[in-house]
Amino acid sequence: MNVVKTVADLRAAVTRARGEGKRIGFVPTMGNLHAGHIALIKKAGQRADFVVASIFVNPLQFGPNEDLASYPRTLTADQDKLFEAGCHLLFAPSVEEMYPHGQALQTIVRVPGVSEGLCGGSRPGHFDGVSTVVSKLFNMVLPDLAVFGQKDFQQLAVIRTMVRDLNMPVQIIGEPIVRAEDGLALSSRNGYLTTDERTTAPVLHRTLQQLADAIRNGERDYSALLASGHQRLQAAGLRPDYLEVRDALDLSPVTADSRELVILAAAYLGKTRLLDNLLVDISQKAS
Ligand code: AMP
Repeated sequence: MNVVKTVADLRAAVTRARGEGKRIGFVPTMGNLHAGHIALIKKAGQRADFVVASIFVNPLQFGPNEDLASYPRTLTADQDKLFEAGCHLLFAPSVEEMYPHGQALQTIVRVPGVSEGLCGGSRPGHFDGVSTVVSKLFNMVLPDLAVFGQKDFQQLAVIRTMVRDLNMPVQIIGEPIVRAEDGLALSSRNGYLTTDERTTAPVLHRTLQQLADAIRNGERDYSALLASGHQRLQAAGLRPDYLEVRDALDLSPVTADSRELVILAAAYLGKTRLLDNLLVDISQKAS
């Protein structure tokens, strides 16, 4: 696996691969890789001939009081994992390489609507940072396809909307959430959890499952359901940031026409912000 740190070297390597007739698959990450990221790399390998991954902890998508400084950076271990997963090229740029003219006057890509509320509500500017860096990375790599995780469900919706609205010639593939055996969604931030918190954390997934079961059984009083979900999280010691049910198609409010729902949650456990979601197919029982 080739590792490059500059846009020039990245472009040269991708141009070579494309010249050999290869289809380019791309997986952007912030590193500290786990099995969730590796599933995306493997999917890219199934759909493309040449797999490019990026590792970049993007300052533009972190708020002033967030964990930019402490975000885990584990480049050497990540390289080994990427190589084993069949990645061909890793792009690991510095902040200066990505933002050579500084961040203050950087052109911003903003996706209205779908980026508002949920994580966009509690992390102002976060999705502007995400859509801007992903646009830049797409323009640098020029991939045929890019793979993202459903773990960040709203992010995936933002990227799909951006690609549609800006006519970007990239196919976006969404991959299911990879979980630990006890149901906790894998996340680079899980390393922040203390041993006790790690034992408690799966309650988030269990709560989503309980709500999903109730919906599948015909419950449609979402506000009562969500209130009970809030209570369960709080009783376990989590501090819910949000817990919502939306139409999975575009994150719009649920209507009588909705066929697939998504229950989305973010909750603090100590200092760690846990994020999770669950899809609920109601096409058989729609009322
Ligand atoms: P990150 O490094 O957290 O920015 O994530 C990079 C990509 O990996 C994003 O597309 C995430 O949605 C995806 N991802 C993170 N965790 C998981 C997981 N547990 N299962 C599937 N995809 C994931």
